[in-house]
Amino acid sequence: MATIGFIGLGNMGGPMAANLVKAGHQVQAFDLSAAALEHAVAAGCIEATSAVNAINDASIVITMLPAGKHVEGLLLTGPTPLFDHLAKDALVIDCSTIEADIARSIAATAEARGIAFIDAPVSGGVGGAQAGTLTFIVGGSTAQFDRALPVLQSMGKNTFHAGDHGAGQIAKACNNMMLGILMAGTCEALNMGMKNGLDPKVLSDIMKQSSGNNWALQVYNPVPGVMENVPAANGYQGGFQVDLMFKDLGLAMNLSQLSASPTPMGSAARGLFNLHKEQGNGHLDFSSLIGLYQPKSS
Ligand code: NAD
Repeated sequence: MATIGFIGLGNMGGPMAANLVKAGHQVQAFDLSAAALEHAVAAGCIEATSAVNAINDASIVITMLPAGKHVEGLLLTGPTPLFDHLAKDALVIDCSTIEADIARSIAATAEARGIAFIDAPVSGGVGGAQAGTLTFIVGGSTAQFDRALPVLQSMGKNTFHAGDHGAGQIAKACNNMMLGILMAGTCEALNMGMKNGLDPKVLSDIMKQSSGNNWALQVYNPVPGVMENVPAANGYQGGFQVDLMFKDLGLAMNLSQLSASPTPMGSAARGLFNLHKEQGNGHLDFSSLIGLYQPKSS
């Protein structure tokens, strides 16, 4: 079993670290939020006093942070770059969703310094993180992928080697652009059904058995009262924040621009989430987008 430094214990990182503890690893955990750290300690993680303290003697370091600037700052450009404090032969696994070019540039700096770094963003939501059924999408060398595999399998069910460094982030951006489009379409269709007198649960059951079936309908219904144990059943707290979906759609638009790939649907979804965010909903779960279709006055 490994000594693992885990930094970023939010909605996703907290349950992922807890699953590593369950698998028998020693997990040295750190988060800037005292509440997040407290939860991780209650799940069996060892409390670290700083990120540098968390990676002390760790053979594996996992980061699960909001965005590229946090990952770059923590590892390279901040006041105490972790790349200056890693144990010899440590493998750094970044599970955050960030820009592919930032992942590539961190990997290049790492390689020049003899450090192993891979991108391993995840899919599956908070439910998947809790159940240990996440999908990991890895960018890095085959040797690095093979080394990370047993640890990733303690937190997930499916692990893909997408290609070299950055490839995990490209695949993740494609997936989340699709997710944003599907959630917007699901909200739109359910709202139209309700406006025409249908029960959203009945309509959801119909579409799940029809050609409109998708992940949002199956496990993440946006209408309160249709499903238990989803953010819609809990005032859209927890889950995957609108701010993060907006960030991910920005990553997709950036890739679209760099590769001249047309993404009109992704662009429309980004516009909808932007509007919803601007109305003060950035910290709510992304399925709260249904509220955009149901203004309070209607
Ligand atoms: P979150 O905001 O709940 O958690 C992020 C945590 O990082 C916070 O607890 C914050 O305090 C901590 N943090 C930020 N900077 C830090 C630093 N320098 N040192 C230590 N801790 C720091 O976010 P989340 O929902 O857990 O998402 C994390 C990443 O996973 C994001 O990149 C997101 O896009 C991605 N993701 C999220 C989901 C989801 O359903 N929530 C699903 C797949 C991927």
